[in-house]
Amino acid sequence: FKIPAIENEPMRSYAPGSAERKALVAAITQMEHELPFEVPCVVNGKPVKTGKIAKQPMPHDHARHLCTYHEADEATVASAIDGALEAKAEWESLPWNDRAAIFLKAADLVSGKYRYKLMAATILGQGKNAWQAEIDAAAELTDFLRFGVKFVEELYAQQPSKNAPGAWNRVEYRALEGFVLAVSPFNFTAIGGNLPGTPALVGNVVVWKPAPAATYSNYLIHQIFAEAGVPPGVIQFTPGPPPEVVAQAINHPKFAALHFTGSTFVFKKLWKDISANLDIYQSYPRIVGETGGKNFHIIHKSADIRNAVIQTIRGAFEYQGQKCSALSRLYVSSSIWSAGFKDQLLSEIAKIKVGTPTDWSNYLGPVIGRPAYDKITGYIRKAKDAGGEILIGGTGDDSKGFFIQPTVILSKDPKSVTLVEEIFGPVLTVYVYEDEDYEKTLDLIDTSTAYALTGAIFASERKALLTATNRLRNAAGNVYYNEKCTGAVVGQQPFGGARGSGTNDKAGSISIFYRFVSARSIKENF
Ligand code: GLU
Repeated sequence: FKIPAIENEPMRSYAPGSAERKALVAAITQMEHELPFEVPCVVNGKPVKTGKIAKQPMPHDHARHLCTYHEADEATVASAIDGALEAKAEWESLPWNDRAAIFLKAADLVSGKYRYKLMAATILGQGKNAWQAEIDAAAELTDFLRFGVKFVEELYAQQPSKNAPGAWNRVEYRALEGFVLAVSPFNFTAIGGNLPGTPALVGNVVVWKPAPAATYSNYLIHQIFAEAGVPPGVIQFTPGPPPEVVAQAINHPKFAALHFTGSTFVFKKLWKDISANLDIYQSYPRIVGETGGKNFHIIHKSADIRNAVIQTIRGAFEYQGQKCSALSRLYVSSSIWSAGFKDQLLSEIAKIKVGTPTDWSNYLGPVIGRPAYDKITGYIRKAKDAGGEILIGGTGDDSKGFFIQPTVILSKDPKSVTLVEEIFGPVLTVYVYEDEDYEKTLDLIDTSTAYALTGAIFASERKALLTATNRLRNAAGNVYYNEKCTGAVVGQQPFGGARGSGTNDKAGSISIFYRFVSARSIKENF
């Protein structure tokens, strides 16, 4: 048994008149016609309607909702955990080629039969435009599933390199004893699939609590897993009031791991709650999390201005800045700033249209919901109050959807609140440094925030790239030269950060799979 060669899913262009554009428009039209959907919990392969109804509003049109969903209640979570533990023995003892085949089939369903439906759910429910939905719900999700199979095959092949005479040593990578809790975010449909998928691929059973704002797309993924052959009970779908579902899972003696993407605050709280429970657990839980960021671009005086401007706009504003990896602090050399960077940045941003994500001319859509809108506009106000100069944007309109104009703030204070705290919206703060202060500015980048997720260095002088790389050794888990700090590709740039940004276990690589297995060494004498 050998898995086929794995390639990244090719990205489609959605050019006007293209077949893929027509297919996507048809899927969106159909979904708009059929909504709102009703989403149950799914436990042991069966829908469970608890009657505790919540709604997933559409962020571009908040009076309408994409789905209503049944929130998991205590009895549902309890039966999800019990059912998962019952499903475990059969799932983990299934031959690896069967588990691999199921996930390869799921990848094919995502890239083929369900591509446009999943994208439509991501566009209508999470406010992505078509290209952002393609990167996420089509390409990255397919890649996570396909490359996951390749990584696990490589993992299982890691075997001791020595045998003493008359003996055979081997290592078996067992699933964790107990169940895994997956808590996924709203901002990537792909991460919704990856958080339960990664542990399940190595034989674990998973209780999955999706983000409320991504309920429908995540439910579709759950259905795809089932259609591909993931047996009932292996991945339990329990949307619903986050603190309750999560607390119930981590208060269970068989809680074995947390696979989390979300805010730093929530992750720290969960870690503390887990620590307080250590005496009740059978095993020390594995804690894997990807959390916040305060990601930077630094533009050196030798940078290509045009490229730096375009990459900066893309890094800061694609998907309204709601990527953990999004650019939000820009350090630009004063000579570059006045030699055209500022003018080009502002004139390009002035052309950007903000609005409904199904309108192909809009580059930005809505932010995800009311709390996000209030938080982001609150930060813009705080920046103004602290003397920041709004160079462009700064306004929003929440009458129909949660729209915020792409905003650039110029700050003279390197420690100002919008240069330090995560905002998670379309707000970029610029700090202009004197050319000769390049190294000092690198130290400032390194020390002024609690995060270390992504960053990019723009320079044509190799020495400037190397100086930054060395001085910023711990300031980002993903570093890019002359390219924006978002858009890590599975299998190409393993993704994740350290410090306040997470446990840096690198999604999209083999290393994360080690966290969800427990190795057993076997020595056999002949
Ligand atoms: N992997 C994504 C990127 O590189 C970001 C994922 C996230 O927002 O959590 O842009």
